[in-house]
Amino acid sequence: MLSERVNRIALSPTLRINARATQMRDQGIDVVDFSVGEPDFPTPEAVKRAAKAAIDANFTKYTANDGIPELKKAICEKLERENSLRYSPDEVIVSVGAKNSLFNVAMSLYEEGDDVLIPAPYWVSYPDQVKLAKANPVFVPTREEEGFRLRASDLAAAITPNTKALILNYPCNPTGATYTREQLEEIAEVCVREQIWVVSDEIYEKLLYDGQRYTSIGSLNEKIKKLTIVINGFSKAFSMTGWRLGYAAGPREIIAACSKVQSHNTSNATSFVQKAAVVALRECSMEVERMRQEFERRRNAIVYRLRSLPSVSCFSPSGAFYVMPNVTHYLDKEFGGAPIRNTYGLAYYLLKEAKVAVVPGAAFGTDAHVRISFATSMDRIEEGCRRIREALARLEEPRRLRPRALNNVSTKVATYGESRAVAGLESRNALLEEASSHLSPDAYFEWNAAVAGIVVQLRTNSPHLADFYQENFYPAPLEGDLEPHAVVYAVKDVPGREPAGLVSLETSTAFTFNTAFYGQVRSLALQLAAEAAARSSGALLAHCAALDVKGKGVLVFGGPGSGRTGLLAAAMREEGVRLVSNDTVLARLGASEPVADLVERKLYIKAKWVGKFPEIGKLLERSKLENMVVSRDGCTVDHPNDECPLDRGAAVCIEASKNGRLMLDPYWLGGATRHVRRTVPRVAVLLAKDPVLPLVQEVQPREAARILAGGQLPGGTGKVCPFMNPHLAAPDSSRADLLRAQHERLLAATRVVMLNMAIGSPDAIVKRLLEVAR
Ligand code: PMP
Repeated sequence: MLSERVNRIALSPTLRINARATQMRDQGIDVVDFSVGEPDFPTPEAVKRAAKAAIDANFTKYTANDGIPELKKAICEKLERENSLRYSPDEVIVSVGAKNSLFNVAMSLYEEGDDVLIPAPYWVSYPDQVKLAKANPVFVPTREEEGFRLRASDLAAAITPNTKALILNYPCNPTGATYTREQLEEIAEVCVREQIWVVSDEIYEKLLYDGQRYTSIGSLNEKIKKLTIVINGFSKAFSMTGWRLGYAAGPREIIAACSKVQSHNTSNATSFVQKAAVVALRECSMEVERMRQEFERRRNAIVYRLRSLPSVSCFSPSGAFYVMPNVTHYLDKEFGGAPIRNTYGLAYYLLKEAKVAVVPGAAFGTDAHVRISFATSMDRIEEGCRRIREALARLEEPRRLRPRALNNVSTKVATYGESRAVAGLESRNALLEEASSHLSPDAYFEWNAAVAGIVVQLRTNSPHLADFYQENFYPAPLEGDLEPHAVVYAVKDVPGREPAGLVSLETSTAFTFNTAFYGQVRSLALQLAAEAAARSSGALLAHCAALDVKGKGVLVFGGPGSGRTGLLAAAMREEGVRLVSNDTVLARLGASEPVADLVERKLYIKAKWVGKFPEIGKLLERSKLENMVVSRDGCTVDHPNDECPLDRGAAVCIEASKNGRLMLDPYWLGGATRHVRRTVPRVAVLLAKDPVLPLVQEVQPREAARILAGGQLPGGTGKVCPFMNPHLAAPDSSRADLLRAQHERLLAATRVVMLNMAIGSPDAIVKRLLEVAR
């Protein structure tokens, strides 16, 4: 429902931590808040007076879109006096905060396909603003031991023909990095040589320590000035965060573009705030210097304390009001058996156990540090550091080996594309040619799988698909030049093709184009195997789950939304219930009584199983994963109280992993007491969801086969899919007849019941299912 653009960004993590700290404070908990991003000093009195005077004079109406002339003039004077930058008023725009100025620049300058370089660790809004402008943030790492300074050589190495701009912020939030004139000259030289824009965020310019002087990169020479857009504001220097005022200065055409964007968004910044800002620029240097001195004193105190924490290193920031202690030593520790895992986990631990709010470094692109703001009093700094020391000391050595990194692959396409039948040899040959032409030898993977006795070969240029395929099925030996029975081509990077699956049953060939989502390949491999198995032995690959209840097989047919997953998981908790398959079995019909086999080596299951069967959560580290949401950036779920499990250091957000899949070994579910590969079907259960139907109702095999062929069970809301199989390419009438006859044969060997999922508690429904099975 929401735009893809907004789904690509997350609510600012600093806001989330702030909100949580505030909530705790409101509950009367004494939190030391090291997460604040604003000075804890009052706005200068002269500024407040000027605002009041402007209000009293009714200066409360719209102003010029890009700022009142008086303020623009004061900004030009300031830039010349303090930064040696000469701009005329039409090269300046006043906005609702520096953030708004940065956003205007993003909208005016970046386009789809552009890369924007961002030294990491970075301020949280840069990447998301770049993404909102449909460009790509590209991070250039900096090093703690070099004061988190961007190296000119790293910058040069990161530039490609797609690079549009560099966002340079110094003093830097979160690292405090600053630059000497010489270091800036090296960076400027690269930018001029490569002709990339520099968005210079100078909002912390006044907060510099150790006797440094500020140099604006644009003041170095005319060439770099032409490429520079200066961003600044009143929030930090004048302690005016809530007043929302900032500005941009740069080449006329860029500022004019920002003005266009702004005219359709915020319009002018607040009228009387602009008046007050003139006073800030002209009359408040004393207050600014007093605040700077206090920040330097606190910087010294906090760095001293953080450096005295065991195994913590801490770069002493030369500007702004944040420090980033390196906490990697504590990330493999545990508390009460729960692993800390990452900086989100550590921040969550410190908030809950030490009542200290810090921001996880992962939010700024580093999972080795946390950000601590010293915009709080000396007393609170001392108290907070004391609490952190105590809390860190309480962390325990892990009792088990450090968890392995998750083996998770995110694919661009994460759901099933349309599956279509290919008619005729000619169309199949054309597809074959197209697919083969995109399988270049240097990125080619081939694997033979035995699926229901049929050799299905995968030919692909996707290492992920090859990996999952090998894991999912048993390998089939193929000797010499023998041909497989069926072939699946899975080819990505084919220009001009929509992601889709195409099946030619008559030639036992299938294709996927431009999707590396494994489900699609599995579905095609199963379809080809089903067809060949039906032809050679009359076996039926049925799209149903199967349980073994004390030796009796129960086949469970249910469409999307039928509650099948929950039912299976709940049933598996009962004594004597074993899972055969969660969604496909091979029913061999030839013998006197049919048997149902699992044909896969590993189960490919939806992430939601973890919610229904928490034991599976413990297997995440052992399983191969696809499209799980493992970072807060990818989590788009509105959690109550904004408590995403990832914020607490969990490895995965299951709720957000709607498209997530796990490939796991069914024996991991509890060994032979929970899993068996073969059962003898005695009961077939069709899941209905209709409050007016009986709880359990017998159905004749012929009628059941007809219902299954119709593709929807009573009360079903999902899409109609014949034989409950969403992956069948629309079968023609003779195949549909054959499938119906096969289902009827299978069902004739069992008792068939319709189980109503709409009535009773989940426990009662499971009980009913098991009664039917006994
Ligand atoms: N840039 C940086 C680096 C910042 O830290 C902030 C505020 N946290 C801003 C810009 C935005 O400032 P403003 O309040 O003027 O929007």
